[in-house]
Amino acid sequence: MSVTFESLQLRPELLAACRKQGFHEATPIQALVIPAVRRGRDVVVEAKTGSGKTLAYGLPLLESEPKQTAFPEVLVIVPTRELAEQICAALGRAAGKLERRAVSLTGGSSMDRQRAELEEGATFAVGTLGRLQELLDRKLLNLGHVRTLVLDEVDELLRGGFSLELATLLKGLPQDRQTLLLSATIPNDVEQVARKFMRSPERLHLTTARELPAELSHRVMRTTVADRVRDMGEFLRVENPYQVLIFCGTRHESEELQDALVELGLEAEFLHGDLSPNKRRQVIEHFRSGELPVLVASDLAARGLDLPGVELVVNYSLPETPAAYLHRAGRTGRAGRPGAVVSMLIEQQQDRFEKLKQTLKFRLLEVKNGHVVLRDLKTREERDLEFRQLPPRPLPQGEAPREDRGPRGEASGEREAGRYRDRRPLPEAGRGDRRAAPAGGRGDRRPPPAAGRGDRREKPRGKSKSGGKRSGPAKGRGPSRRR
Ligand code: ADP
Ligand code: MG
Repeated sequence: MSVTFESLQLRPELLAACRKQGFHEATPIQALVIPAVRRGRDVVVEAKTGSGKTLAYGLPLLESEPKQTAFPEVLVIVPTRELAEQICAALGRAAGKLERRAVSLTGGSSMDRQRAELEEGATFAVGTLGRLQELLDRKLLNLGHVRTLVLDEVDELLRGGFSLELATLLKGLPQDRQTLLLSATIPNDVEQVARKFMRSPERLHLTTARELPAELSHRVMRTTVADRVRDMGEFLRVENPYQVLIFCGTRHESEELQDALVELGLEAEFLHGDLSPNKRRQVIEHFRSGELPVLVASDLAARGLDLPGVELVVNYSLPETPAAYLHRAGRTGRAGRPGAVVSMLIEQQQDRFEKLKQTLKFRLLEVKNGHVVLRDLKTREERDLEFRQLPPRPLPQGEAPREDRGPRGEASGEREAGRYRDRRPLPEAGRGDRRAAPAGGRGDRRPPPAAGRGDRREKPRGKSKSGGKRSGPAKGRGPSRRR
């Protein structure tokens, strides 16, 4: 049964802002959570990746009238800077004309600036534990007026137990606050720990909570350490996803892979925790804008990020736990959109794979070595349309330019108007006997020439190992050469 935001009787400003973003109906989890949060209950929310958890707590917290403006009344703790900024931006968009400010408190910006933003008054403080602690230690942050504490991605925050940082922070919060926990995966032990600092929480989930979004397909490609890069490059070229997020096991691996992909003629960047905060922000914005087709990342990018252009997630190295698989996979197929996951399987990770297979209850399709099985793809043009039809995300008012992000931190709302346009498609990487590459330059995201879906699937594929002649790096090769 669908529940409209209207029937939930959201404040008019919020309703207008929802409409502006193209949101009319609450997602199922929002329909459950919004009333509970309004009642002031403590809640534990376990709901699929991409099911709209941010606004499930964001909307009811935005609509409640702040008691004062000098100190934050909602504290949202998240595992990464990127997620903090994304949440601030989402709150900013959702607030519309309602005067609410959210400040992102993470290691990425100067404490002086954060202090200044806090002094201007913000209802929402969204931060990572380390920086929150630092601000508290320096007495730059007062959490004595927090009415609601949100732990988003709670299992990640409580990984390895109850940290001293979190314990200290909780002590400084008012006892009679409301506490909300959210994640797609909340194991029992985490919930037990968390319940100790909650007041008879209600557990809200949909029956399908831990499942992956139904729209996702899951495939495994058997390969070897030696062939892994090439097989993947080939796969990307054939599949030509709108944007792909590739997960590696280590930072080093992600750098090496990015390097190799660039060699293959793909435009790729890497993202991991060793990069400077500015660089991290730059890379994620480049990717979010739709301009960068390939991002190679560590698990830093596995949690919470909402990147609507990601059609394919690749596990270049298998994740260690089923929960990690689920969160990585959850970067695609969001808000009911289609998505695919491909895991590269090398012999050395066979045990890991068996474990994942046992726990995750989905059907895996295998992609045979060298033979890439194509899914029933829509044409590039159809998908282009699909992506362009994503609801536009209007910029909240008074947004500061990119480098000088305002206190609402609307990092991701930028450049939305033109997103997904003018982005160059994945270039041909590797062999020359495949589909013709789309032309470069403007207006270039054309469907593959003569590529009915059917014929692409039926086209016999050469074995990349033995059969195919492989030309050198495709860098700079003009598409015309392959016509
Ligand atoms: P989660 O935290 O559950 O992984 P998010 O809160 O990041 O999911 O939301 C996923 C996507 O769904 C975002 O792009 C968000 O803007 C969109 N979304 C949220 N609520 C709705 C809604 N009611 N209708 C349509 N899209 C929505
Ligand atoms: Mg989330």
